[in-house]
Amino acid sequence: MKLWTNGVIYLPDGTKAHNIMTHDGLITGIDVTVDQSIEHMDLKGGYLYPGFTDAHLHLIGYGQYLSRIDISNMTKHEILQTIENDKRSVILLDGCTSMHNITKTDLIGVSSARFVLLRHTDFHSVTVNQQILDKLNLVNDTGILTEKEAQLAIAYFSKVSNDVIASYLERAIQMLHQFGITGGHSDDLFYFNGYKDTLEVFIEVLKRLKFRTHLLVHHNVLDDYIKDGGPTYIHPFLELGSVKVFFDGTLSSKTALMKNGYKDTDSKGLYVTEDFIEIVKKVRRLGLTLAVHVIGDLGLEKLLEVLEKYPPSKNQKDRLIHTPWISEKGMNMLKNKPITIDAQPQFLYSDLPSAFDILNQKPDYIFPWKTLAKQGIVVSFSSDAPVEIPNPLLGILYATNRRANDNKMYEQNESITRKEAIDHYTIDAIAQNLKKNRGSIKIGNIADFTVFKHDLATVSDESLKSDLVLMTIIDETIVYERSA
Ligand SMILES: [Zn+2]
Repeated sequence: MKLWTNGVIYLPDGTKAHNIMTHDGLITGIDVTVDQSIEHMDLKGGYLYPGFTDAHLHLIGYGQYLSRIDISNMTKHEILQTIENDKRSVILLDGCTSMHNITKTDLIGVSSARFVLLRHTDFHSVTVNQQILDKLNLVNDTGILTEKEAQLAIAYFSKVSNDVIASYLERAIQMLHQFGITGGHSDDLFYFNGYKDTLEVFIEVLKRLKFRTHLLVHHNVLDDYIKDGGPTYIHPFLELGSVKVFFDGTLSSKTALMKNGYKDTDSKGLYVTEDFIEIVKKVRRLGLTLAVHVIGDLGLEKLLEVLEKYPPSKNQKDRLIHTPWISEKGMNMLKNKPITIDAQPQFLYSDLPSAFDILNQKPDYIFPWKTLAKQGIVVSFSSDAPVEIPNPLLGILYATNRRANDNKMYEQNESITRKEAIDHYTIDAIAQNLKKNRGSIKIGNIADFTVFKHDLATVSDESLKSDLVLMTIIDETIVYERSA
């Protein structure tokens, strides 16, 4: 039994408590009379919130990203120099953008007989050299591959031992603990060493490191998942959830399905998964739910038409991942739909205003989290790490101030309050968890807490950019504590 004291504790109704008692991993008392025989845990004057959850990220992918060189802030010349100095036979670098303007021709002089793959920041495109094109039997003039071809190249060169995958996962979880994240919903089971091996890595690592892990089942490993026991799978720190499938692509790769299309091309985007409807039918036959990547406003309308035709069972909800751009029609179609949305507030900061440079027309709704909530739709916040840094304080900042990287405010009418933003990382972020005793400070809920140095309701915008995490507590255990 533990008594957490000397801090401010936020209860679901916004009122504050002085202490919390926990036992066997659960909250057993709030504002109890202090009994000296109980083990006292010092909150060091911090502000305690329910454990923060990241509703959509890629845990192993994030760990891999942390273990790699990030080229996003380098110049083209520096990137080519880095490749030339790297003596490995396979060179994988993260953070390439169209701004770098690197093609396979640029890579001729610096890569000789080696394989070079530069992953783009949206993870839907890669720039590769001729050696990789030859290896994969692809023909491409620029070496810039998108969607299916990009995934093929990434998958081919991402094969590493299970020990290496475990080290990626450990690194990711330790980093998330530092950001105050106690749980995450992750899409990892397809991209590395297959369903079984990857799942075993999770089970091994979660014995050593506490983290509430909810894994999406990529449609490419659905058969393995069913063979392995499917939805009956039970583990204290691990849940298996919806079937992940891509509907369209991304804006920066010009593959998101946009109603009014893109400048300099006739394309309105791409239906990324050709047999999408067949997958939906199969998922429904199995009684499962979907987790669908959808970015474009046209993509959302078309997706909702499919989901209307093939709805989930009663009491089930699908999850839509991203949906930053929504048309008036799409917004109306969303009303009363059995869905939740996994949104990324940091995308607002990163993707605006440059998105407007490539779009023919501004969509009706842009990152409309306030309107979505008004429609009664649960919005769960997330980072999509490694696409964004999984720091929820940045998400809270951008969802409330709605400032992008040009420091301008976008659609201020969609600005939400700090409390609403915190809810999107706590009580709303667990909407798709199978176990529901979490996300708020309540007797009977799990003892997962995030403790910040300051009150998130009143701290300045500027302070949200600094490291405010004092302590991260999972299952009654302090998994991270800021050094004095
Ligand atoms: Zn993702």
